[in-house]
Amino acid sequence: MGPEAPVYQAREYRPPWFWLPILGVAALAATLLVVANARSRVVQNETQFRSAQQVRLHEIETRIDDYFGKAIQLVSTGAQTLANVRDDPAAAERLVTELFLSRSTPQIHDVGVSYQPYSFSSSVKYFCVYDWAAPDGSVRQGLRNPRTIPYTTAQWYRRALETPGEPRFDGPYDAEGKSYISTVLAVERGGRAVGVMTVDTLTATFVGENMRAMLVPGDVGWIESSSRGRRLLETSANSAQDVIDGRIPLRYTGAFIHLASDASALHAANARMITATTVIALVIWLGTGLLAFTLIQVWRARQNAVRLENDRSRLESEIAVGKRVEAELRKAAYTDTLTGLPNRAAFLESASEAIDANARGEGYAVFFIDLDRFNKVNETMGHLAGDELLKTIAVRLRDAVTGRGMIARLGGDEFVVLAPVRPSGAGTLAESLLSALHEPMLLAGRLVYIGASIGVVVVDDAYARPEELLRDADTAMYEAKRRGRACFAVFDTAMRSRVAAESDLESDLRRAIERHEFVPYYQPIFDARSEALVSFEALVRWRRPGSGVVGAADFIGYAERSGLIDGIDASVLEDVCHDAGALFASFPNASVAVNVSAAHLAAPNLADSIGTVLRANGVSPQKLKLEITETAIMRNADQARSTLEALRRNGVQIVLDDFGAGQSSLGYLHRLPIAGLKIDRSFVSPLPADVSAVAIVRSIVALAQALGLYTVAEGVETAEQLETIRALGVHNAQGFYFSPAVALHAVLALTGT
Ligand code: C2E
Ligand code: MG
Ligand code: MG
Repeated sequence: MGPEAPVYQAREYRPPWFWLPILGVAALAATLLVVANARSRVVQNETQFRSAQQVRLHEIETRIDDYFGKAIQLVSTGAQTLANVRDDPAAAERLVTELFLSRSTPQIHDVGVSYQPYSFSSSVKYFCVYDWAAPDGSVRQGLRNPRTIPYTTAQWYRRALETPGEPRFDGPYDAEGKSYISTVLAVERGGRAVGVMTVDTLTATFVGENMRAMLVPGDVGWIESSSRGRRLLETSANSAQDVIDGRIPLRYTGAFIHLASDASALHAANARMITATTVIALVIWLGTGLLAFTLIQVWRARQNAVRLENDRSRLESEIAVGKRVEAELRKAAYTDTLTGLPNRAAFLESASEAIDANARGEGYAVFFIDLDRFNKVNETMGHLAGDELLKTIAVRLRDAVTGRGMIARLGGDEFVVLAPVRPSGAGTLAESLLSALHEPMLLAGRLVYIGASIGVVVVDDAYARPEELLRDADTAMYEAKRRGRACFAVFDTAMRSRVAAESDLESDLRRAIERHEFVPYYQPIFDARSEALVSFEALVRWRRPGSGVVGAADFIGYAERSGLIDGIDASVLEDVCHDAGALFASFPNASVAVNVSAAHLAAPNLADSIGTVLRANGVSPQKLKLEITETAIMRNADQARSTLEALRRNGVQIVLDDFGAGQSSLGYLHRLPIAGLKIDRSFVSPLPADVSAVAIVRSIVALAQALGLYTVAEGVETAEQLETIRALGVHNAQGFYFSPAVALHAVLALTGT
């Protein structure tokens, strides 16, 4: 599998954490700005308010000071002049009138003088005169006639005398139904206060001219005595609840002017400002919150989009990987790993297509190829060499087929070719496949001859499923092997019925083992020289129900191929051991030989189980010989050797059967613990005429002598043959010349027992 495709990762968005504090700071700054602005506006409003108030206060103060300044000037002038005219009331009256007329402000309501003229007639105890301005503007004179009013006892008079030379202010006070404010100054003579100069104003005029005229609606002004904080005069008794109070000192009176201005409008405006500011701050923070929320939402939305994108691309790449894995698995499922060829599954698919193609009139044939000598290479040269061989075969098949079809390996040494050929061309292709496989190949420095058997099936309408093609091709391949290998056989229906018969045979053989239908027949073996009986060979016979006694040749080969031979061999050995008592009682010097399939030798514990059977029947191992037949290739040669060595140690002799005919006869000679060779019937039968047979037998005898082995000739049918083998030095002889294999009771009858 290739490296994983990199998964595309969409860029992640940074969370807006960076912007949130900035937003917060901005909102805070905006809030502070708005608050500061409101604050300054409030302060400004108040400052404006207060300065306007102050302006009015100053104006009031100026007017009042102006008034009192003029009143003081008048009383001062009057007091000075009066000091000289005290004793002249007329002059005093004139003075008062002059002063009154010279008054510089119409606010001065009257000017007067009161004193005690000590030089007057005693009846005139007090002198008081004043001029005043009538409402129509004319000058009136009052108190021209001295009265006996004791001014000197009046509070204001006495207080004025207390501070001679210093003007005093009195009032407001009521006189004759009106309210007045007076400016008074003591008149001195000779260091003694003798009278008082007064200048009066009507309180109403004073307040109206100097104070009320200056006010704006909502203002309340008053004059407050500096000493006790008492209100002396005020423009209105009512004062608003919400006021701002201002005051400044007056110049002459030692009092303060107060102004309480209605600040409710100001405060309302300020409150509105504060409310507006609060609202603005709220809006700022709400907006900021909203912005922050929006930022986070936008970020999350983008993040989600990114995640979705990442998930999508991950999914896509996973799907891609999945597809690739699937493709690879599919490829693996259809490929033989060793050769890289398509495998059985792939073949079945193609074969299925070939069946469809046949229906359209395209011709196809299947070639089932089984290598003849693959197992041998595997065993003698090792599995690596075997693998190498299979790869070479694959290449050769490819070259032979040359793109005309598909080649598959079914497993082991079985290959199959599916080629688009007409029935007439099938034989040609089979020939060229055979010749490609029969070329010797160089394997691990050795020349090896493999060869193959091929079963051919021509696809026709009888086939509906690819397995049927494979089955019949396999059958044809077995037929080719049966015909002697290294050839091909084209399937026909007769083969199918033979196979069907074989499959009956298999189930019958299984049943036969269970029902104990196998019995050993015994063929005697004689000393070639003395013709004394030396041994018996046990040959299996099948008492097959309905078929009589069946010879070994009819089922042993199939039993070996189908793996049933082990059970048959074991059954025969058991029976032979069972018969041994009677046999050796009649022939005390004889031994008995039992055939064991080479394939069976690989069975584990074979030596132990043979030993057990021998002991159970009281048979000496020295009396037993094992004939190793090689109808099937020996599997697991190491296990076979250790089994045979164990048996030999116990005294059992090993004989190689059918020597010279099998592929491996010579190979076994030095690998197995062998005591004797049984020369194959194919070399004995042509004797004595066939010179090459004579030469072969002579060689085998020489070989056996060299290895210290004894020899037996099987299939001796004539006296000449017996004579020949005797002359060639073969030790023992066996064959129809003496006797075929017969049942135990017939053997025992030989001796007359
Ligand atoms: P084999 O071991 O070489 O046995 C000799 C075969 O040649 C026997 O055939 C025997 O009947 C036959 N024969 C003997 N003398 C002559 C003769 O003069 N002329 C001719 N034409 N044939 C002769 P059979 O009994 O049919 O056995 C065939 C083969 O089956 C045996 O060949 C042996 O390889 C195998 N076989 C027989 N019994 C057993 C058995 O119990 N176990 C195993 N594994 N194989 C057995
Ligand atoms: Mg034999
Ligand atoms: Mg034989």
